[in-house]
Amino acid sequence: MMRVKLKHLGLELPLLPTTTVGSFPKPQYLLDARRKFDSGQLRTGELRQLEEKATREWVSAQEEIGLDVLVDGEMYRGDMATYFANNLDGFRISGLVRSYGNRYYRKPIVAGEVKWRGPITVDWWRFAQGLTNKPVKGMVTGPYTMMDWSFNEYYPSRRDACIALAKVLHEEVRALAKAGAKIIQVDEPAISARPEELPEFAIEAMQVVTKGVDAYFINHICYGAFEFIYPRMLELPVDNFDLEMSNSELDLVELFREHPFTRDLSFGVVDVHSHIVEDTATVKQRIRRALEILKPDQIWIDPDCGLKTRTQEETIGKLRAMVDATKKVRKSLTVKNS
Ligand SMILES: [Zn+2]
Repeated sequence: MMRVKLKHLGLELPLLPTTTVGSFPKPQYLLDARRKFDSGQLRTGELRQLEEKATREWVSAQEEIGLDVLVDGEMYRGDMATYFANNLDGFRISGLVRSYGNRYYRKPIVAGEVKWRGPITVDWWRFAQGLTNKPVKGMVTGPYTMMDWSFNEYYPSRRDACIALAKVLHEEVRALAKAGAKIIQVDEPAISARPEELPEFAIEAMQVVTKGVDAYFINHICYGAFEFIYPRMLELPVDNFDLEMSNSELDLVELFREHPFTRDLSFGVVDVHSHIVEDTATVKQRIRRALEILKPDQIWIDPDCGLKTRTQEETIGKLRAMVDATKKVRKSLTVKNS
């Protein structure tokens, strides 16, 4: 579907391109180093070296597994909203707040006008892209999620905060594209938090982020109450929606049968919340389900969400099953077409 755009960007990807959502588990030496850094026992430069080492290891693991579109693995990030808040003007960070059951994190507080100080993720993107010939995705947390996951003490409304963040993130996305990132993913896990806000301003915010930027845009959405935002969601100005499919037993397939899915879809085929490593047959079956409702050239294959909560072994096992299953399905499709 969006193959024309990929081609225009100079990207030749195989049918059913394989990728991941973004985060990988941090190796033990990096977890230790981050703790030391937080208590002042390690300098920024020393931490950076270990983050680079871990990034190098994950880039070569992705190449070895045979993925088509790579990520930097987010070795330098803690929470996905707090990381950006830390690097933008206008934010303070709260004390520890409880979220998602037993997870604690520091919640960003919008305390003044948000401003872009300069590139946040560009150096990391460049570093990762310099390690491989495969395309590496640029990655930013979206304006709606940044707004929804922050306390707002400055802007008069959620809409104002969201649009202001969109303008700032547009700068980041432009900088990524200028550095050479051809595929840019905007993570919006919170986009269905208040479904009425999608037409009210979330779509407009994404237009602000992507406007005039020559890149293939992916929108990652998870934890979604999709039944409330679909098919309206298709008005978000992106080329590809990257959705959690497997954790919900592929319920969305039925929804997409009612209202055809008109964009590319990165179809989550492994559950990131489960320790169980799916076998190739299970993943193949899920890809077959995707093919029931979508054309082969609309489909990308990836896990449901980031893999940072899985172990290294589980991560690699799940990705191997995914790549293996994809290759088998790809082969059968090519045979059919020839
Ligand atoms: Zn996710």
